[in-house]
Amino acid sequence: MPEKFKSQRAPIYADIPDEKWNSWRWQLSHRLNTLEEIEKVLHLTDSEREALATQDLFRVDITPYFISLINPDDPNDPIRKQVIPTAAEMVPFTAMMEDSLAEDKHSPVPGLVHRYPDRALMLVTTQCATYCRYCTRSRIVGDPSATFSRDEFEMQIEYLKQTPQIRDVLLSGGDPLVLAPKILERILKALREIPHIEIIRIGSRVPVFMPMRIDNDLTTMLEKYHPLWINIHVNHPNEITAELDEATDKLAKAGIPLGNQSVLLAGVNDCPHIQRDLVQKLVRIKTRPYYLYQCDLVEGAGHFRTPVAKGIEIIEGLRGHTSGYAVPQFIIDAPGGGGKIPVQPNYMVSSSDHKVILRNYEGYMTTYEEPEEYKSHDSKNCAYCQSKRPEMGQTGLTGLLDGEKMFIKPEGFDLLHNRGGIQHRLRDDAKWQPRGIGSGDIEDNN
Ligand SMILES: *Cc1c(COP(=O)(O)O)cnc(C)c1O
Repeated sequence: MPEKFKSQRAPIYADIPDEKWNSWRWQLSHRLNTLEEIEKVLHLTDSEREALATQDLFRVDITPYFISLINPDDPNDPIRKQVIPTAAEMVPFTAMMEDSLAEDKHSPVPGLVHRYPDRALMLVTTQCATYCRYCTRSRIVGDPSATFSRDEFEMQIEYLKQTPQIRDVLLSGGDPLVLAPKILERILKALREIPHIEIIRIGSRVPVFMPMRIDNDLTTMLEKYHPLWINIHVNHPNEITAELDEATDKLAKAGIPLGNQSVLLAGVNDCPHIQRDLVQKLVRIKTRPYYLYQCDLVEGAGHFRTPVAKGIEIIEGLRGHTSGYAVPQFIIDAPGGGGKIPVQPNYMVSSSDHKVILRNYEGYMTTYEEPEEYKSHDSKNCAYCQSKRPEMGQTGLTGLLDGEKMFIKPEGFDLLHNRGGIQHRLRDDAKWQPRGIGSGDIEDNN
């Protein structure tokens, strides 16, 4: 058997009876949020003191369980950096934004972000068990007055009902698992009543901040709403404890597939060795590394950012070196709202017709000989392909490959290239109608 995961309590909690410590309600109501309280657990630095004494700081709240995982004497402790503010948070940087992923712009109704063709993100609360200093949604998260009203919730459900292309709904926030169990169940039930919603996902850091929340009552309730997937959020191996192991075990036994989303954070996990240890421990707790995110361009997070190349280096250090199951996708969530963009090392080195040259993680070079004769599947004349859900105007590059259109043009392209000229004898739109592509209507090919 591999070495067991540890369990830890800060000295000030030594005398708390187990039944209190193991109660999520006790953990929530005993969260630390002031300089005076936090000082009883950690030796604070000047920069931390300054931040904790600042008005209008992004909300601070830390569960007794989670703060206990910090080494109180190490100012660079990787868990500490995620939850204890420092003065660096108040330093602005180039390209910093309030809503860097333009989520609110992509919300047809408050709290529902519909960016991709077949899935939507539903923000169900602004509250969390503990607040991450690099929060991408710090514009609303932590602020109880920004939370979603019952009317807004009804609007979200109504939008989902009216939008049959959505087959996957992702609950986030805030953290859906801090909602009162009855409210969470009401949401799950309302979603399950919509026939076109096939899967429900929950994004939650509660198993990490407050693993005692994953009790039998919760898993028994969640089980009723399958297929249900959960993504947790672990950034450093020190967060993987005996308690988290128990929580993920319960979720897995309830039939819930588990993924992990990490954020690449300077001074926390920006190293291939730490990441390898992290992903190997994650698969031990039945959790598959899903995404590793480049830190967003969000206020307060400047000091956590790394060059993009650090993420490439980390994937280089994982792929081939450890189980494929343990390798996440490195993602840049597009500033301005383009959605998630995967970035990875280059494995294809060169190519000619019928041949590609590839390199593996060790630097071994190989050629893959491609077939000289290949007849591709004719999806235009295939009943199976034609019976699938349409992609509703977001076919993107797939649309180019499918021959649905020939170009994707930047906004204002035609007007700009018209150069204010006249409609003369050589300018005939029919000239630029690609034969055999699209519906034959010129407008459709733009
Ligand atoms: C991340 C995200 C999703 C889910 O994306 P997947 O790549 O399917 O995990 C959906 N909607 C929004 C707005 C998101 O940010």
